[in-house]
Amino acid sequence: MVKQVIYKLQQNNMAGYFVQGNNELIHLLTTLIKPGDTVGCGDSVTLEETGVFNFLRNGNFVFYDKHRPNLTSEEKRELYLKNFSADTFITGTNAITHDGKLFNIDGNGSRVAPMLYGPKQVIAVAGINKLVGTVEDAIKRTRQIAAPLDAKRLGKDTPCTKLDKCIDCRHNQRICNDFVLITGQFVKDRIKVIIVNKTLGY
Ligand code: SF4
Repeated sequence: MVKQVIYKLQQNNMAGYFVQGNNELIHLLTTLIKPGDTVGCGDSVTLEETGVFNFLRNGNFVFYDKHRPNLTSEEKRELYLKNFSADTFITGTNAITHDGKLFNIDGNGSRVAPMLYGPKQVIAVAGINKLVGTVEDAIKRTRQIAAPLDAKRLGKDTPCTKLDKCIDCRHNQRICNDFVLITGQFVKDRIKVIIVNKTLGY
């Protein structure tokens, strides 16, 4: 199945890679991100769990670390804008369909916007649990599994944090504002998708 997904990603002008675990993932990243490069990131449990954030913090990169403690909202906004001109933007992704499309839901767009335009390359890292059949499956998975867990992680007071399911709320803390499906790229291999052979994030 992974082979098929990578083939479909390639047909959509995106590169696909399959690695067995964290060490192989980090090794691959050292070949994709050059020393001295500017690197922005999206919020991602997967990148935290795989040690990618620490790799970027400790490596020879100019890392726009959005998780630095005590960042003001103005400083965060500056980082988000710098992400558009980064050499690399690295992120997780909510779902990858069997026909090689990426689906994400975002709250303020700071994660999905640089995926769409700006950074020279985008690296999306995902566990095999993010592989889904169709776009409908991707939307369902993200809304009913990922978004409620993410709302909990972010300490939101939205209905899903109590019900463990999405009811398409209109709560003022709603985190589901942007529904973005990436079906291809103009620039070949600008988006690189790394599938890790384990369950990661949600
Ligand atoms: S739309 Fe509302 S209820 Fe549904 S997952 Fe998003 S924040 Fe939760």
